[in-house]
Amino acid sequence: ATPAATMVGSTLGAQNGVLFKGGDVLERAKDVDTVVFDKTGTLTTGEMTLTDVVALEDEGEGKGARAAADGGDAAADGGAVATQSRLDESEVLRLAASAERDSEHPLAQAIVEGAEERGLELVDAEAFENVPGQGVRATVDGREVLVGNRRLLESEGVDPSPAEGEMERLEGEGKTAMLVAVDGAVAGVVADADTVKESSADAVADLRERGLDVMLITGDNERTARAVAERVGIDPDNVRAGVLPEDKADALEDIQSTGRKAMMVGDGVNDAPALAVAHVGTAIGSGTDVAIEAADVTLMRDDPLDVVKAIRISEATLAKIK
Ligand code: ADP
Ligand code: MG
Repeated sequence: ATPAATMVGSTLGAQNGVLFKGGDVLERAKDVDTVVFDKTGTLTTGEMTLTDVVALEDEGEGKGARAAADGGDAAADGGAVATQSRLDESEVLRLAASAERDSEHPLAQAIVEGAEERGLELVDAEAFENVPGQGVRATVDGREVLVGNRRLLESEGVDPSPAEGEMERLEGEGKTAMLVAVDGAVAGVVADADTVKESSADAVADLRERGLDVMLITGDNERTARAVAERVGIDPDNVRAGVLPEDKADALEDIQSTGRKAMMVGDGVNDAPALAVAHVGTAIGSGTDVAIEAADVTLMRDDPLDVVKAIRISEATLAKIK
């Protein structure tokens, strides 16, 4: 781009809350044919709330006991169950939240807040370990607690299948369902949900109208990812789910290997390598510093419609001044 075009584009961008890091970025942005959105914190607000707590019953007793997380009556009556093999909802939540207290993940924070709101007394966990893209492991009251996805339990040799029905039900509602295992057996499921941003569907529709392909990439599972994709108008074939943090950049390279020029839009530390690999990396301004540093474009607002603006500005300024 000529210095003049760069000036016009950058200024127009800044006035619209879109910061381009240099003139070559403006030029690259007009060639973008595919926009790849991260899910959590990008298409959704990322503000998680605990929505469900489920305690599984002993094998042979049939379906899992289901309880809405806000039904606060479960706490006191747990003592009626004499056997130690079955945990009630409050105990599932107390152990999970105690294990998650040292995690900074938004999913973990929602679990902790949900437990505190329900008046549960959390304890200090020992031997806390964070497994990126999978969950956490910790010792709580001398018990081995795992909170996370199927992959986490399987890698620890715990069979997640007794909870599969409950997991699928919650994921089908677009929630992030997490398994809670205690002493080597799955004991329950907790679920968090966040809210799809108001303008996400409009942004996807605008981009598609402009002839761009729109994709979704997430570490979250397929079912949850598809439920969110459906809500915002992204084709189910364009969903890449269950992508580990360290694999996000590879996934981007794979998408671009067919000659596509992708704009990756993300907010998290997890997204930084993918933002760097993309033809254009775009960070949501409220996101982490690491993401903003890795990106070529920063959106000052939280609004997915500004992705459309970024592409329009680069097209407009470079078309006019050449
Ligand atoms: P995203 O790409 O949506 O930001 P992550 O890559 O951080 O997600 O995590 C992927 C999945 O791993 C989550 O959807 C969740 O199932 C599981 N997970 C990650 N961290 C935690 C945690 N602290 N507690 C429970 N589950 C977790
Ligand atoms: Mg994110």
